[in-house]
Amino acid sequence: MSITDLKPLFSPEIMASAPIVMAGPCSAESETQVLETARALAAHGIKIFRAGVWKPRTKPGGFEGIGSPALAWLAKAKEETGMLTATEVATARHLNEAVESGIDVIWLGARTSANPFAVQELADALAALPQGRRDSLAVLVKNPVNPDLELWLGALERIYGAGVRRLGAIHRGFSSYGKHIYRNPPKWRIPIELHRRLPDLPIICDPSHIGGKREMIAPLSQQALDMNFNGLIIESHCKPDAALSDAAQQVTPDSLSYIVNSLSLHTETRSTESLGLLRQQIDRLDDELLELLAKRMRVARDIGRYKRENNMPVVQPGRYNDLMQRRVDTAVSLDMSADFIRNVLAAIHEESVRQQLEICAPEK
Ligand code: PEP
Ligand code: MN
Repeated sequence: MSITDLKPLFSPEIMASAPIVMAGPCSAESETQVLETARALAAHGIKIFRAGVWKPRTKPGGFEGIGSPALAWLAKAKEETGMLTATEVATARHLNEAVESGIDVIWLGARTSANPFAVQELADALAALPQGRRDSLAVLVKNPVNPDLELWLGALERIYGAGVRRLGAIHRGFSSYGKHIYRNPPKWRIPIELHRRLPDLPIICDPSHIGGKREMIAPLSQQALDMNFNGLIIESHCKPDAALSDAAQQVTPDSLSYIVNSLSLHTETRSTESLGLLRQQIDRLDDELLELLAKRMRVARDIGRYKRENNMPVVQPGRYNDLMQRRVDTAVSLDMSADFIRNVLAAIHEESVRQQLEICAPEK
């Protein structure tokens, strides 16, 4: 399914802010906490207020959110501050209640995106909304907990298929086993590939859930802007240390504002003449690389013919290991990573083998 004809996620005023920032507590905990945080964020110019109403917790016994009664607090925050409100929905009931209470933005959490049944249930509930309501709702799809781009794309396609056009993605990192500096390692290659496949889809970075620690929010946000992400979603709580969920990664509205204001933006989108020249060099080098690869394949096919005539097997593991090790050593001495060159050589070798097998296949 191709995802085209998307509408801007938010109003022109919000879309023009650089970067777009959604902020608010991990969870709505009490009316006072919601209003106090919302007022402070609004005073710092934040335009979209996030708060979790239903919280997916890994283990029972954690704070699972206040549920439906918290929606009224978000409505109050919206009325008082004029901010848009955003919350996570995981079931059709959550969606309908959120929409009923006037929520402007919903997101599918990482555990939901990983489950096609749950995503389809939400897509069906979105399709059943009155068209006007669906058209005005912004829907963001977090990456699934596991690093699976197809699953993320599948979730986006299901929501798009329901007629949602204010659609975006949130990159919150991927869970992984063992200890890491990140709570959810970002694996930037995946959101970058998502952007390559769907260039019009806005992607918002969630440095709070990637880093899991306050001090990682600023550097991760900067990295996201350096990579041209469209916005940030950051957890902010009026009393972070007392937060009932994700306390270690929440910051006060003042700190949030400080972080956002200290980010450097990349406003230059025109490419300069010298960049153009450098890119021409890259184009030429890529052409040379392709010609070289084609030459290498021709030799590989000659070897294939020799092996066929002499009744030899196509793959000779000793040769492969020897070839690999020598090339890796050379590449490392030329400042390339061993992993990178191993991947490149494995791909080239696989293609050579495929071509030799074609030659060696018994004639039909
Ligand atoms: C959240 O945004 O508070 C949340 C639960 O996020 P995730 O689905 O990314 O874990
Ligand atoms: Mn959270």
